[in-house]
Amino acid sequence: MLPSYPVPVPYNEQVRAYAPGSAERASIQAKLKEMSSQVLDIPLLINGEEIHTEQRRDAVMPHRHGHVLAHCSLATPELAQQAVEGAEKARRLWAEMPFPARAAIFLRAADLLCGKYRDEVNAATMLGQSKTVYQAEIDSACELADFWRFNVYFAQQIQDMQPISPAGMWNRLEYRGLEGFVFCVSPFNFTSIGGNLPTSPALMGCSAIWKPATTAIYSNWVIMKVLREAGLPAGVIQFLPFPGGSCSDVIFSSPHLAGIHFTGSTGVFNDFWRIIGEGMDTYKSYPRIVGETGGKDFIFAHSSADVKQLATAVVRGAFEYQGQKCSAASRGYFPKSLWPALKEELFAQLSQVKMGDVADFTNFVGAVIDKGAYRTIKGYIDHAKTAPDAEVIWGGGCDDSQGYFIEPTLIQTTNPHFKSMEEEIFGPVFTFMVYEDEQYEETLRVADATSEYALTGAVFALDRQAVLVADRILKGAAGNFYINDKPTGAVVGQQPFGGARKSGTNDKAGSLFNLLRWASVRTVKETYAAPTHFTYPFLSPDI
Ligand code: NAD
Repeated sequence: MLPSYPVPVPYNEQVRAYAPGSAERASIQAKLKEMSSQVLDIPLLINGEEIHTEQRRDAVMPHRHGHVLAHCSLATPELAQQAVEGAEKARRLWAEMPFPARAAIFLRAADLLCGKYRDEVNAATMLGQSKTVYQAEIDSACELADFWRFNVYFAQQIQDMQPISPAGMWNRLEYRGLEGFVFCVSPFNFTSIGGNLPTSPALMGCSAIWKPATTAIYSNWVIMKVLREAGLPAGVIQFLPFPGGSCSDVIFSSPHLAGIHFTGSTGVFNDFWRIIGEGMDTYKSYPRIVGETGGKDFIFAHSSADVKQLATAVVRGAFEYQGQKCSAASRGYFPKSLWPALKEELFAQLSQVKMGDVADFTNFVGAVIDKGAYRTIKGYIDHAKTAPDAEVIWGGGCDDSQGYFIEPTLIQTTNPHFKSMEEEIFGPVFTFMVYEDEQYEETLRVADATSEYALTGAVFALDRQAVLVADRILKGAAGNFYINDKPTGAVVGQQPFGGARKSGTNDKAGSLFNLLRWASVRTVKETYAAPTHFTYPFLSPDI
């Protein structure tokens, strides 16, 4: 339905600095204290009702895994069935709600999130996902508010895309929501992605079943509270945590499944795609499949690169949030001429990096998300420690006695196809090779062909010709390509995010392209003076 007046112009929420002595720092510190001293009971939310179940999972602090933050209810297949039926019922009324009314709910949610819920969502993300205050702020408060505000604006732009109407008729396009619910499955690493996956289809008029990552239920529940308070009607987004695939069968076998909005690993997305393919005879429509998945993101330096900028990009790009960003730099290519100075600068910066409890604001690095992640990441480091063609030149220490801590780790290899140059690790491990300066183009080609992913990548060079060459050779290697900047930190409305190849369908989260996937367009032609007889002039006989 067309809005009859323009929606507010969106803006990026201003990121707070949390500097010592500031009111915002005191406020979040008080919230961290308060939330650390409570143990919550987090329910499911189905058809607007909070439901507590017997099957539960404890939310703990990854950096102090003995500390329980909440008992989180998990869904059963019977409850999943209720959620499916309720979502289909709720959709009918929701789809009829005029666009400005739906949009206002998400704009109000953005203001609530950045206002009275800001400390709560940030503290929940810090405590439950081990993010530093800055990483929590740019994610759970700012990026999610940006998603909500910009999506409203993009949805209006979509609705403004209209055909021409010659004399005697009026042609219009109606951007209907999909006729069914969208199954939204989110990862642990960004609270904002959890909030965006169900709300973008909902904004377009679909209902959604949201399965958050079990390790992020604690912060994701805050989002659900915000949406409820903003006026989201019951059943439009069903909050349905469950582990892995335990309730998926019920959801995938519903004829009303109209789409998948997924962010997570490539393997899980491939499984979803297969299951949908096999179930095609079940569905009333062709489900839209949207997924943003893994990455093996690179930093490629030319000999003309600025060493300090490059080293900073490696330290921030690879180790912020413990390397658990899909966009985190995890492989590097450095020219021989630059390496001695770069090594010195990297070691100088890394020697200042502190790791520990994120409630201590002097820590730059927290813990990885859980025991499974800890074991996997440690496995890659142990492999490098014994491999003949690699050397751990920084970090490598792992300790899970209190929390799942893994030191920022640099692995130098002589083998461009070394295991950790190719596979996604999703931890604070950066593997790199040093190449001969004159082999710039050949090494770019190796970088392009090394991994199955193509999410983010960065080139550092002050020589413009070198930038052009990298831009051309790496055209297919990244959906988000950075020149003289780290490959993380995409901002909604500024750098629409998504990768190609096995990094996903590249529908660019937080953009018009993504929202279009949740619309089923109806063309309406209205004629003012329709013909009253079937004949055409050419049917008359020659004179
Ligand atoms: P994951 O694939 O392990 O889990 C993602 C979600 O899928 C979780 O909610 C999980 O419970 C669920 N899941 C797993 N198996 C399932 C099944 N059989 N049925 C239903 N749900 C199932 O990923 P993760 O560890 O949470 O997140 C890390 C991954 O996400 C990395 O690969 C990372 O690159 C990717 N990621 C990508 C982007 C992007 O924009 N491309 C953004 C963030 C994270």
